[in-house]
Amino acid sequence: MDKGGVLLYKCRLCGCVERNPHVPDVFTAVGHLAVGLKLPEKWFGAPACVRHPHFCSDGRIGVADLIGGEHDKVESRERNDG
Ligand SMILES: [Zn+2]
Repeated sequence: MDKGGVLLYKCRLCGCVERNPHVPDVFTAVGHLAVGLKLPEKWFGAPACVRHPHFCSDGRIGVADLIGGEHDKVESRERNDG
């Protein structure tokens, strides 16, 4: 079963880790990007790549690399009404 979540990018310059963008299936996204494949075409609107520019908080421009991904946190557990 597909599990959605966010991709994690770490800036080489400032070390900041960004959690963006959200993808419908983290494993597929990381697996594809890690080996140089494009994301599935059915994922319109889920732009992602292995690295992109990072606007560091001190004004410098760094390069952020894909370091992995994490699944969405399940905030509401099974609710038993009754
Ligand atoms: Zn940075």
